[in-house]
Amino acid sequence: MSIIVQKYGGTSVGSVERIEHVAGRVAKTVEQGNQVVVVVSAMGKTTDQLVTLASEISDKPSKREMDMLLTTGEQVTISLLAMALQQRGLGAISMTGWQAGIVTEENHGSARIIDIQTEKMETQLSLGNVVIVAGFQGSSEHGEITTLGRGGSDTTAVALAAALKAERCDIYTDVTGVYTTDPRYIDEARKLHSISYDEMLEMANLGAGVLHPRAVEFAKNYQVKLMVASSIVEEVGTLIEEEVSMEQNLVVRGIAFENDVTKITVSGLPNEIGTLSDVFTLLSNHGINVDIIIQNQIAEQKSSVSFSTSRSSLEETLSVLKKHQEELQFEEVVHEGDLAKVSIIGSGMISNPGVAAQMFKILAEHEILIKMVSTSEIKVSALVEEGVMVPAVEALHRAFQLDELEVMI
Ligand code: ASP
Ligand code: MG
Repeated sequence: MSIIVQKYGGTSVGSVERIEHVAGRVAKTVEQGNQVVVVVSAMGKTTDQLVTLASEISDKPSKREMDMLLTTGEQVTISLLAMALQQRGLGAISMTGWQAGIVTEENHGSARIIDIQTEKMETQLSLGNVVIVAGFQGSSEHGEITTLGRGGSDTTAVALAAALKAERCDIYTDVTGVYTTDPRYIDEARKLHSISYDEMLEMANLGAGVLHPRAVEFAKNYQVKLMVASSIVEEVGTLIEEEVSMEQNLVVRGIAFENDVTKITVSGLPNEIGTLSDVFTLLSNHGINVDIIIQNQIAEQKSSVSFSTSRSSLEETLSVLKKHQEELQFEEVVHEGDLAKVSIIGSGMISNPGVAAQMFKILAEHEILIKMVSTSEIKVSALVEEGVMVPAVEALHRAFQLDELEVMI
């Protein structure tokens, strides 16, 4: 018998009706002769509501108590789903992360999984029971309850699939698969039949919210076959695997974008060894995340550096830099807000030169000014004005022929 791991997100278990619906799907998978492990999120917006509750009591709640609080959300869902399955006459048992044998670091709020002791789950599966595990939680070696970070239930599912050597890990969510770009903004977005781990990882890191980046990383490391599909409608989903056949020879398979980006330029810095290290160590010590970095030498003695960061870090970045102006010996810091990052992603770039050039040409033809660029083996990102973000994505989507993909239902 093969083991199938299924994960259902918050929206998919958001009401009693939805939980009943999920129970029906799980029952069907059992009837097909599989052993099933189900990972669930907290119902609907429960986790957000718990975070709000905590903020009403304390402006700096302890991380340990936050984990204690947030893990209750998933515990509600596992027990209700177990009841729904039992009501249908199926054997089912719910387990917290600790009961399922998920051992994590003790880093509250963003703990990493270090081991999964599968005996208890395996015993229950061999007894013919569906095992329902609370997502996004585990416990440390000292028995402390931990969480894996927001969105971490995907990671729980993939990690369980790896540990149990499952046939497949199906992630059921409120979208019907992974799209070439965000269908909420771009009408011509197409669902992909399949995508590679590396491409999915880039997409997830660049803001495509379908899957938690750490889950994709895990799936790649353990070669877990992942499928993303809708829990609500019956449609084929997207398969995420190592090697993907070149769908109609697509060099670019996806376009990700995000707004709320700012560019900061620090100029008149000394052109010396260690300057960049000083600037970025300072920012990192303040927990400021920096994305694209460009350095320029101006004359012999001076240099400047520009970098991008999120709009929410702008104020703090400027104030930290200004406070240390004397020490860093720069002349001026300026910023440019209201920018967006548009990225093209595709493994085909490795073997096809000129993809970046093609992207720049398409943007130029649409009179879109590029402010900054960064690349990796399989992606090119460009910063543009926020106002032209959607037109830029539309133009690239069409020029790289993603709109010509067959519509899948
Ligand atoms: N319930 C948690 C969250 O909302 C974990 C998850 O759903 O993945 O972040
Ligand atoms: Mg999620």
